[in-house]
Amino acid sequence: EPHALDLEDLVMHFGPVRAVDGVSLTIPKGRVTALVGESGSGKSTVGRCVVRLVEPTAGVVRIAGADVTHLSRRRLRRHRGAVSIVFQDPAASLDPRMLVGEVVAEPLRLSGRRVGRREREARVARELERVGLRAEVARRYPHELSGGQRQRVSIARALISEPMLLIADEPTSALDVSVQASVLNLLADLQRDIGFACLFITHDLSAVEYLADDIAVMYLGQLVEKGPREQVFARPAHPYTQALLAAAPVADPVRQRRRQPVLLGDDLPSALDPPSGCRFRTRCPLAFDRCAREVPAQVPFGSGMAACHLVQRDGARPDVRAADTS
Ligand code: SF4
Ligand code: MG
Repeated sequence: EPHALDLEDLVMHFGPVRAVDGVSLTIPKGRVTALVGESGSGKSTVGRCVVRLVEPTAGVVRIAGADVTHLSRRRLRRHRGAVSIVFQDPAASLDPRMLVGEVVAEPLRLSGRRVGRREREARVARELERVGLRAEVARRYPHELSGGQRQRVSIARALISEPMLLIADEPTSALDVSVQASVLNLLADLQRDIGFACLFITHDLSAVEYLADDIAVMYLGQLVEKGPREQVFARPAHPYTQALLAAAPVADPVRQRRRQPVLLGDDLPSALDPPSGCRFRTRCPLAFDRCAREVPAQVPFGSGMAACHLVQRDGARPDVRAADTS
């Protein structure tokens, strides 16, 4: 059975900016992969390549086994393994002149399939109810709704075409903290009920703890670690993943006390001129001479991989907490 998504060596350069630089990733049907990284790591660009908001510079994008790398957006909408996207900011992504009902129904129109008015209204009502809104909301305008309600409308619109794959790009980070959890819960419930595959893009490792099956960690345009969620949380292999986890807020007070000081003091280097060798070396507390000379290979680690000279196939891994950071 084909995977929901296969990325093979995806490259996206904007002029001299190497936003995405060789990303390979597979999402099986019905599974959720969290793509984690700081802002500027290129993770949103990966999502935009998948839905063809931008055309990749090189590499292959396969959805449901079919190569869609060079399909137009219009052709992609009509493709059998549909893909939808939910953006960070619902205020910016919803057309303010359209009624909510028209917003939600739009993908049906764009799919090129004829859908009668009755069926369209019934499906809009069903989608609105599925995301926890009343069907009457269809006759309101987006600006009459709260931020959380607007993001629910975006989710309803994304799901009405019954996509095999949903791209969720920081779907809660523009929302009030008070509604973030309810929107994340909604996405998790919908994913369990409907079973779409999901690429969940986020800068926040703690947000993926109960939503993701797998985690992929991105740094300056490249993946530095991939693995099942439990493995990445329990035994992070790459120093960058370890630093991200150490900086993440942890609910458990016992673990909280063992929290390490933030290790990522400096900003992300520029994707215009990434460091030689290992791109993380300018911030890595464990960097040594080889790291500047040699690009680390992707080493199999548990059921995943990590790209660091100190990670071993036999499961040995570096420990950033042991580094002398004085
Ligand atoms: Fe740090 Fe070197 Fe490993 Fe890169 S390869 S993460 S610089 S130890
Ligand atoms: Mg982004």
